[in-house]
Amino acid sequence: MKYDPVLENCPICGSAQTRFYHSDLRQNRISICEACRFQFMNPQYSDQYLTEFYAGYYSHHSQIEREPTSHAHDFYLKKIETFLPQKGKLLDYGCGVGRVMNTARQRGWTVVGYDVDCETTKKVEKVYDVEIKCGSFEDLDWEGRRFDLIYLYHVLEHVKDPVHTIKTLRGLLNEKGHLFVGVPNMRSLSSTAKTYLERKRIRRRRIGAHYATDHHLLYFSKPSLSILLEKCGFSVVYTRNGYKAKNEDPNLKKIAMRYVTDHLYPNSQMVMLARRDD
Ligand SMILES: [Zn+2]
Repeated sequence: MKYDPVLENCPICGSAQTRFYHSDLRQNRISICEACRFQFMNPQYSDQYLTEFYAGYYSHHSQIEREPTSHAHDFYLKKIETFLPQKGKLLDYGCGVGRVMNTARQRGWTVVGYDVDCETTKKVEKVYDVEIKCGSFEDLDWEGRRFDLIYLYHVLEHVKDPVHTIKTLRGLLNEKGHLFVGVPNMRSLSSTAKTYLERKRIRRRRIGAHYATDHHLLYFSKPSLSILLEKCGFSVVYTRNGYKAKNEDPNLKKIAMRYVTDHLYPNSQMVMLARRDD
């Protein structure tokens, strides 16, 4: 079976006031919650389908090589450290090929990673000489270990039960520990325009890959992500548009992206830092 039964309730606020909103270019159906305005794929993919899909997720990285630290993650971490100046232990949930861990370690964090794909994580562990746990997150034994920061970068849009995921991660944080979340912003200028054109059928061909329903199940905006984090026992302390500068970009472009695009218009990504409440 490729799909689960249709969800009756909103995966974030639990309201039953949900309705069909849109059908994307892959003909996957998107629902919207009337209560919190959150959008989600409905029905969602089955666990079996997702397990098979993610089994080969990083298979294009047959060789993992040590990469330079990431300018964008360095920028995010610098900002996070204004709230957590003592740094400490960082868990990178969904660590992929290890770039965030490498960047954080260079800044003085003690890093541990997690990802589903054990074959890739073994290679990454070797290349960076870091500890990475893999497999089903539910089955892992953390032996009482707690973290000061959990980094959840472009992960949450892939999960089926975001409340469960965030509450589970909350349990792994120290008192006053922080959670850093980066997700695509469905209310970005480009996603809003693409969705509008599709829904009004102004464009005959469906244009938007922006829902990315080949693997994205949830479609966040700043209000819905705040609702989720607050529901799960966090206070949001910092929000900004995604900082999309690449290492090789000229300094002027980096400065423009840092200071101008954060205020001028919502770009396709957003990040939020939230502190665990007592
Ligand atoms: Zn809702």
